[in-house]
Amino acid sequence: MVRPRLSPYGFTFCLLGSLCLVGGFQSSTLAEDEKKPETPPAAAAAKPITGIGYVDSPLLPGSPWRVHDRNRPRPRVVAVATDSGPVPAPSDAIVLFDGTDLSHWVKPGKSPSELFPAGWKAENGYLEVVPSAGDIQTVDTFGDCQLHLEWSAPTPPEGSSQGRGNSGVFLMGRYEIQILDSFANVTYADGQAGAIYGQYPPLVNVTRPPGQWNVFDLFFESPRFEGEKLTRPGYVTLLHNGVLVQYHRELLGAVAHKDVAKYVPHPPAGPISLQDHGNPTRFRNIWVRPLELGRNP
Ligand code: MG
Repeated sequence: MVRPRLSPYGFTFCLLGSLCLVGGFQSSTLAEDEKKPETPPAAAAAKPITGIGYVDSPLLPGSPWRVHDRNRPRPRVVAVATDSGPVPAPSDAIVLFDGTDLSHWVKPGKSPSELFPAGWKAENGYLEVVPSAGDIQTVDTFGDCQLHLEWSAPTPPEGSSQGRGNSGVFLMGRYEIQILDSFANVTYADGQAGAIYGQYPPLVNVTRPPGQWNVFDLFFESPRFEGEKLTRPGYVTLLHNGVLVQYHRELLGAVAHKDVAKYVPHPPAGPISLQDHGNPTRFRNIWVRPLELGRNP
């Protein structure tokens, strides 16, 4: 939620880039010197990346890793074909954005009843974040659901790590599935595209290049509360570009930055929110199928 800004990472990234360039120059120089073997590419790739992520954040419960752990392994990259166009909504879906109509979306105010028009751009068949316009959320509320959305990171890409193509989808307004330009962009593992932010990295990285459309298919079983007591946690399954990246992950709680997520009791339905993280990420073809999971028909 709290947004680490670009400058320190940008500086670090530039520094790392400079070091890599220097390293590359040295490597080619050493290759010509038969007395000194080249560094094997695999060993070079395994070098720890410093300056991105944290080593002083709290440990995740039941995990050897810290929140946004700098040393948590980053998911391997899996290539997928370019997108083949919007995925048509099934007949029982509620279409939340069809390319033109923003009537399903509002900007939240300081209280639940204070709502404003969504200030994002709807043009050319897509919805685009207007930096500083604020997050937007659905007028309707949802609990268990199947959610389909397509997103595209800004091109040309700008910034690095969490500052590059950052947005997110918040189930019930509080459980963030990260949207990020994770194509050739190093960041901490639990903060990249398809992560349950601050909790679980995606199983693999299937992010398409900036400007191409990514597809998220989310399956969400909302947490259950009895009064103030959590009786069943929430669960998320996610397909990214048709590839399984989260399977029935037990949510630890509402999204948190550099802190362990905790549950705060809430109503059985909440809005779906999209994040303004200061980058002009685009969305198209958003639809949802409300479900009642965990109950017999
Ligand atoms: Mg985000």
